[in-house]
Amino acid sequence: MSELIIGSHVSFGKDKQLLGSLEEALSYGANAFMIYTGAPQNTRRSDINDELTKKAIDKMKEEGIEPTNVVVHAPYIINLANNLKKDSYRFAIDFLKQEIERAEKLGIDKIVLHPGSHVALTKEEGLKNIIDALNEVLRVDGKAKILLETMSGKGTEIGAKFEEIKAIIDGVEKDHLLGVCLDTCHINDAGYEVKYFDKVLDEFDKIIGLDRLMCIHVNDSKNELGAAKDRHENFGFGNLGFKTLIDVLYNDRIMDVPKILETPYVTEDDESKARVYPPYKFEIEMIRSKKFDEDLIKKIREYYKGGM
Ligand code: FE
Ligand code: FE
Ligand code: ZN
Repeated sequence: MSELIIGSHVSFGKDKQLLGSLEEALSYGANAFMIYTGAPQNTRRSDINDELTKKAIDKMKEEGIEPTNVVVHAPYIINLANNLKKDSYRFAIDFLKQEIERAEKLGIDKIVLHPGSHVALTKEEGLKNIIDALNEVLRVDGKAKILLETMSGKGTEIGAKFEEIKAIIDGVEKDHLLGVCLDTCHINDAGYEVKYFDKVLDEFDKIIGLDRLMCIHVNDSKNELGAAKDRHENFGFGNLGFKTLIDVLYNDRIMDVPKILETPYVTEDDESKARVYPPYKFEIEMIRSKKFDEDLIKKIREYYKGGM
């Protein structure tokens, strides 16, 4: 049996870039990681420094981290589904083209993308806009794939049904450059029962094809099945629970797919949010031990308060 490929979202700072992201991932005991090439909520991006990239790639080799287990996430303000504001639609397309170039410069071949929200348009119009945009964005000689993320269906989000993801793939000419990122919190909130994960995979396989599944976001959910809300919870502490999520991670049909945690940072006891701590080192340890630790959140607070 192959080894678990597990990591988390890590930061990508302008000073150390990919090298800093790698160091953060290693400090969590991860063998995979995901970055936004700048802040997730804006589109300001600095130039990629090839020297830092080379150092990072060399270090990945030393540490046994496969570049194929590193993923970029496009900023979530990019909306390809709505073209009512021509300028924003054009901006989103151009930004995504540049994001592909940035990922390729970083030696990364996977870019997770939220399909988009149709807002005042119909879902069909939204789907068409996404397809048109991807047809323009994807190059024949492209190396990086766009992974369409399964969404919770909050607001007018497209991608809460596997059929919608499939419709996008069907409309795109260079569909060999498309994959899917399945988010366990999102599919729960969209009404798929993660508890019966093999059934979910069967359905995914029937509608989209399991060979398209190239990344899994392993998040617990604060919401009930079908809530269409999208609020992530720490691993094992939400409505999905520890056993269900462990079964996802160790499902032998998807062992070679990188698994990424996007669980929330832990806040102070008093919820003052004065300081927040990354949970990933602890969650990854707990995942590897396969034993739920109900005191994990407390331990994370103690570790970061005492040690840093
Ligand atoms: Fe996402
Ligand atoms: Fe996600
Ligand atoms: Zn989410």
